Amino acid sequence: MSAEELTPATEFTESGGGARPRRKVLSSPYLHRLQRRHFLLFDILPIVGTAGAIAFLAVHAIRLSDLILLFVFWLLTGLAITVGYHRLFTHRTFKATRSVTVVLAVLGSMAGQGSVISWVALHRRHHECSDREGDPHSPNLSGSGFAGRLKGLAHSHFLWMRRHEYPNIVHYAPDLLKNQPLVRVARLYYYWVVLGLLLPGIIGGLVTMSWTGAVSGLLWGGLVRIFLLEHIVWAINSFLHMFGTRPYDSRENSRNGAVFALITLGEAWHNNHHAFPDSPSFGLEWYRLDPGFWLIRLLAAGGLASEVDVPSSERRAAKRLPATTATTATRA
Ligand SMILES: [Zn+2]
Ligand SMILES: [Zn+2]
Repeated sequence: MSAEELTPATEFTESGGGARPRRKVLSSPYLHRLQRRHFLLFDILPIVGTAGAIAFLAVHAIRLSDLILLFVFWLLTGLAITVGYHRLFTHRTFKATRSVTVVLAVLGSMAGQGSVISWVALHRRHHECSDREGDPHSPNLSGSGFAGRLKGLAHSHFLWMRRHEYPNIVHYAPDLLKNQPLVRVARLYYYWVVLGLLLPGIIGGLVTMSWTGAVSGLLWGGLVRIFLLEHIVWAINSFLHMFGTRPYDSRENSRNGAVFALITLGEAWHNNHHAFPDSPSFGLEWYRLDPGFWLIRLLAAGGLASEVDVPSSERRAAKRLPATTATTATRA
C-alpha cells in the first residue's frame, strides 16, 4: 500500500513491531463491483418485483394469504433490523441470549440490506461522522439551495449504495468478528436472502395449492416486502436527517418523525436515538410508540434479554432543547 493510497480516514495502531497503518475505510474496484451487484440484486430487483407483483394482479387477484405473508415477513424482518441489526448488534443497547442473537441475525439478513457485519460497520461509521465528511449517507453534504437538498435526499435515500467507501470491519466491528455464530450467519448472507424469498413462495403455494399462489407469495411476501422495508429504513437516513422535530441536542441534524413511529417500528425517533445511542428505547417515553422496544421488553420478560436500561430523566433533561428550537423544521 503506497502512501498516496492512504486516505485521511487512516489511523495508526501499535502492534508488536511498531506503528502500522490501519485504514478506517476501504476502496477498491473489487469492493465496488460487489456493491454494484448488491445494489442491482437487492435494491433494484425489489423495485422490478413490485412492478411485477402489480402486473401479476391481472392474472391472479391478490388473496388474503398474500397480504398476511407480506405483513408477517415485513414485521419479522423489520423487527430483526431495528432490534437486532441496530439496537443489539450496532449499539449493544441490551444483552440477548445466543439463540435470540442468531434468530435476529438470520431474519435481519433476509431483509436484503447487507450482512449483519457490513450493516453494523456502516452504521457505526454513520454515527461517528454523522452529517460530516465520511458519513456514508448524509443528505446534508450535497450543496445548498433546492437542487442541493434534492440531490442530498436522493443520495442519502438510495444512490449512495451504488458505490461507497467500505468501512473496515476490523476497525468498526471487532466485537462481531469475535462472535463465531454471528460470523457464520454473515458468511451465509446471500442464502438467507434467498430463503426469505423462497419461504413466502412455498407457503403461498401450499396454502393455495397452486403455482400462481407460489409466485404471488414470492412476489408479495418476498420482493414487495423487501421493497417496502428498504424504503422505510432508507427514509430514516434521508428524510429524518432533514425534516422533523429536534427535541434533543445532538451534533448532527437528526430529527424525529412521530407520525412514522409505528410503520418504522420505533426508528422514526431518530433524534432521540442520536442523542442517546446507548438506549434500547428510541421513544424514551412510554407514550411514544416504539414497537422495537416493546419486543425488547417482551424478550426481557421471557428471560431472553437483559440489561435493558433506558436513560434516566436527569440525563434526558440535560440534553433537552428549548421548545422553540426543538420544533425547527430544517437546518439553515
Ligand atoms: Zn444507530
Ligand atoms: Zn442517523
